[in-house]
Amino acid sequence: MSKSDVVIIGNGVAGLMAALVSADEGKKVTLLSYGAGTFPLNSGVIDILGYDEQGKAVNSPITGIDQVPDSHPYKKIGMAAIEDAIKYFKKTVADEGFAYTGSLKEQQWLITGIGTLKPTCLLPESLQGSRCFDASEIVIVGVKGLKDFYVDMVKENLAKELGADKKYTTITVDTYITGRDLTTRDVAKWVESDKGYGEFLAQIKGQAGAGKAVIVPQILGTKGDYVVYKKLSKDLGCTVVETTGMPPSVNGIRLRDVLLSALKKKGIRVVENAKAEKAIVKGDKVTAIEAGGEVRTQTYEADKFILATGGFYSGGITMRDFGEYKEMVFGLPVEGDCVEERWVNKQLFSDKKQAFSMAGVRVDDSLRAVDESGNVVLKNVYVVGRNLSGYDFCFEHSGNGVALTSAYKAAKA
Ligand SMILES: Cc1cc2nc3c(=O)[nH]c(=O)nc-3n(C[C@H](O)[C@H](O)[C@H](O)COP(=O)(O)OP(=O)(O)OC[C@H]3O[C@@H](n4cnc5c(N)ncnc54)[C@H](O)[C@@H]3O)c2cc1C
Repeated sequence: MSKSDVVIIGNGVAGLMAALVSADEGKKVTLLSYGAGTFPLNSGVIDILGYDEQGKAVNSPITGIDQVPDSHPYKKIGMAAIEDAIKYFKKTVADEGFAYTGSLKEQQWLITGIGTLKPTCLLPESLQGSRCFDASEIVIVGVKGLKDFYVDMVKENLAKELGADKKYTTITVDTYITGRDLTTRDVAKWVESDKGYGEFLAQIKGQAGAGKAVIVPQILGTKGDYVVYKKLSKDLGCTVVETTGMPPSVNGIRLRDVLLSALKKKGIRVVENAKAEKAIVKGDKVTAIEAGGEVRTQTYEADKFILATGGFYSGGITMRDFGEYKEMVFGLPVEGDCVEERWVNKQLFSDKKQAFSMAGVRVDDSLRAVDESGNVVLKNVYVVGRNLSGYDFCFEHSGNGVALTSAYKAAKA
């Protein structure tokens, strides 16, 4: 048996942020971690609000947030907590040597792995696409054997985005790794080795130079420390920009490692492979969680619990049959349209929100679950991140934004 002030369940962006803020509040924190969260999938950038209710691009996230409906998590989190959460996040990653650029006032732009532009709120400097807007020539670097990065497609789409008055050139470099397809993580490891860096630089240096911008997939080292990015920018004497890409997302994993490093410095206890299975409830409060470890089930007592189990994607919420939503740890009420015909919009790239994505735990302004009459169900349990109802992160581009800001609010409660 182990007693903490706060037990956090789940180790995605929301769980890690909740743990950091709780520790700064002077609490003894235990984080139950299971799996890797969505870090290896998402590009590690912080979308706050990219598109409004009608699917129209939002130029200023802070103005967009003002206009979301009352049922949206941002309305429950509140602007003051959102602003403080962003400040807190930026300071945390900067203290770890991985500063993020951007603010709530205006969107930043990043270049996707297919050469289109995507708005986001906070991102690492190496991904800041707007730095290439003034370049006279765009040099797109592909890698032989790298899956899902096609230089000709990137060139064609970027030319549409940035205009035909620039020159667009492509190069494909060879890693000399043979016998298999490569992921961006493989290539990032090669580029951060002394030998690989030398080979990489030698193949692109002739094409770079003043006034040009070199666009590379997310391969400038596996660590969130900017070492390879800064060295390459200096050695090429021009702007270098990383794109987003297909999983595994190198930058998502960089962000995870940076946040875990900050957690370690604060002495937060992280229990690996601890899947929370059962809550012990007394009256309207939870006293402990039972979690399966590698060998046996352990009990974790606390005064407060933060549920950051990632909703449908990460198994925090399930639906065995239409109408049978289930929040897996506490059995909290889940709201959402679950009529079979409406649950999924089968149009792949739809201009409408997805009902399944809007489903989640119904909460009040303190982020505690409430029943249909608005009564708090468990007084010391807070719900954060993808578990929350009332938003479609994919439609509106708000995934990591809701995760960070809700975690901050719950940890401060
Ligand atoms: C392909 C993809 C691309 C995306 N791209 C972006 C992007 O570019 N920008 C952006 O802002 N957002 C993006 N998102 C959205 C973003 O990743 C998520 O909305 C956000 O990170 C959710 O964070 P979370 O911490 O709530 O959940 P998760 O990241 O899902 O983490 C939940 C964690 O809880 C663990 N867990 C579940 N059940 C238990 C249990 N019983 N006990 C212990 N642990 C448990 C899970 O294993 C998981 O590790 C993307 C999402 C996807 C799927």
